[in-house]
Formats: sequence, structure tokens, C-alpha cells
Amino acid sequence: MDRNGTIAIIGAGIAGAAAARRLSGAGRRVVVIDKGRSPGGRMATRRGPDSLRFDHGAQYFTARDPRFAALVEDWTARGIAVSWGGAGRHVGVPAMTAPVRDLLADIDVRCGRAVGRLVREGRDWRLAEADGAALAGDAAFSTVLLTCPSPQSLALLEAAGQDLPGVAEMRYAPCWTLMLAHDGPPFRGGPVREDRDPEATIAWIAENGSKPGREGGTIVAHASPSWSRANLECAAQDVAERLVAALQDSVGPLGEIRHRAAHRWRYAAVEQAVGEPCLFAPEAGLGFAGDGCLGPRVEFAYLSGLALAERVLAA
Ligand SMILES: Cc1cc2nc3c(=O)[nH]c(=O)nc-3n(C[C@H](O)[C@H](O)[C@H](O)COP(=O)(O)OP(=O)(O)OC[C@H]3O[C@@H](n4cnc5c(N)ncnc54)[C@H](O)[C@@H]3O)c2cc1C
Repeated sequence: MDRNGTIAIIGAGIAGAAAARRLSGAGRRVVVIDKGRSPGGRMATRRGPDSLRFDHGAQYFTARDPRFAALVEDWTARGIAVSWGGAGRHVGVPAMTAPVRDLLADIDVRCGRAVGRLVREGRDWRLAEADGAALAGDAAFSTVLLTCPSPQSLALLEAAGQDLPGVAEMRYAPCWTLMLAHDGPPFRGGPVREDRDPEATIAWIAENGSKPGREGGTIVAHASPSWSRANLECAAQDVAERLVAALQDSVGPLGEIRHRAAHRWRYAAVEQAVGEPCLFAPEAGLGFAGDGCLGPRVEFAYLSGLALAERVLAA
């Protein structure tokens, strides 16, 4: 097998971007494919009407590992990240997607393509859409690195008759997110409010507008895992109404509400990680990285992507 052949990375979130940057920096050919419209994954920004921007996925990131801390320092120096809300929190500028986009600069990234099948051809891999249509210009890949949440990665592995031990063990909690724009005053008590009561409807409220580049009077609220699970299949409009009511119960009247929308994250926060930095089967040319490896944080997903790239380079 040509172990120096092109590497396909499925998923342009922070884990896929970290792996792509390291591999490309080491001179390897890399193609990143994502089903979303743009890179970022759960480091996401949703545009609303009137150029409103909401960070509706990850709210911030922290940096404890020296490798990630050095990167965050570099992003900060270049205006790609800024500290926000104290406690070592950082956000992307002008949006949460900015750090991922920076990692992927100059890399071949193909968005709007959902990988439906991994097809083994001799010792190579080809990628296909769910209906069998070839993806990535029918290119052959020596290695495929999966960085989508484990249920999505597992479906691809099973359809290809492959097993990557550990992927099936990861568990994720869902999250319904409310995005709201209003004309009332900001809520009291700082830009962030957390409720750790597992029975609470809303677990997290952020004054989204207090982040640089986001319009004032915008709020993002995350429903708790238990509420999200219980209401997983409800209609988004209905969920938005109920979360607005719960939000006002929590922070008081919000004045005139100009915009409200709800987004469902089916796989939001890792509840059970596998406890390994990454998973890699060199003989099959398959690997997995993402927050399912080390835990529910941007930093952990980054470190997982980096670890997988190192494994590939060492193979
Ligand atoms: C609501 C919410 C709030 C959060 N808050 C925080 C926080 O405040 N701080 C923090 O550190 N972390 C937070 N997190 C967690 C953090 O966002 C994740 O840990 C991290 O972004 C995961 O990165 P990843 O690269 O592993 O996965 P992802 O970002 O999910 O990337 C996977 C990518 O794979 C793509 N994909 C999936 N299936 C396919 C397919 N078949 N074909 C092609 N592409 C595919 C997806 O489109 C996605 O872009 C939050 C997450 C959510 C959802």
C-alpha cells in the first residue's frame, strides 16, 4: 500500500482541521470533505436576518495543553481569537468558525459533500455519496481519517465492513439551542449564566452580543441534555417558543423579540469518551479523531486530531 498516498479526512471540524494542518505541514497530500456548507463543524456560526450572527454550537474554548495554548496565543496575536467572559475562555473572531478556517488555509477542502460510503478498491479507498456516486473526483486514498461524531463514523465503518475498536463505545448527549434577538436590556449577572441542575430546562445562557463582531441584543441558550433528549423529535418552531418562555422565566422579560430560532444538535456533548487520544488501524488505512476520544471540548478535539496525524506520520 502506498502509505504516502493522498489522505482523505472526513469532517472539517476542529479535529479534522488539526489533522489536516499537521499532515499537510509534514508534506502529505490531504483532502478534507464535509457535508456542511462551510468548515467549522460544531464550532459553528448561524446567520440570521439583518446580518445577525449567533454562535449556536461551541460557546468558547479554553487552552490548558501547551500545544493548544500556543496556537490560541497565535490566533489571539493575529486577531482570529479573543478572550471573552473571563475564566480563560476564548472565542473566534469574527465568528466561532474562524480558528478552524485558519487551520484549513491552503488545504483542499470540499464542503457540501456528505460521504455515504467508503469503498475498498485493492489497497486504496474511494469515497462515494450515499447513492454510490463518486466523491472527490473519484480519487483514490491510501488512508481515510474519520472525524465525524462516532454514530456517523460507525455507520460508514459498518457499511464498509470495517471495525475500529472504540468508536462504538462513545456516547453523545443532544442539545436544542435557542437563538434570539431582542430589544430589551442585557440580562444581569455577566455574559454567561449556567444552571447545573440536571432537571433544568435551560442549562446555559450567553449574551452572544457581548462577543466581538456579534450584534448586541443577541442571546444563545442551550437546553439541558435531559430536556433536549425528551424533546428531540419536536418541531423546531415549537421548541423555540417553549425555550423563549423558559428563558424569560430565568432572566426576566426580554422586551420585543425580533428573532427566534431553534437548532437541534443530535450529537452535541460527549457523555462517554473512549479515553484514547485517537484510534488508528494502519493496516486498514483507517483512523478516527474527535471529541469522542478525550471528551467534550474544542481543545480535546484539537488534540485528538493532532494525535491522529502523528500516528499516521509515524506509521
Ligand atoms: C451546543 C454545543 C455547545 C458546545 N459548547 C462548547 C463549549 O462551550 N466549549 C467547548 O470547548 N466545547 C463545546 N462544545 C463541544 C465542541 O463544539 C466539540 O467538542 C468540538 O467542536 C468537536 O469537534 P470535532 O471536530 O470532533 O467534531 P465536529 O465539529 O462535529 O466536526 C465533524 C464534522 O463532520 C462532518 N460530517 C459528519 N458526517 C459527515 C459525512 N457523512 N460526510 C462528510 N462530513 C460529515 C460534520 O458536518 C462536521 O463538520 C459544544 C458543542 C455543542 C454542539
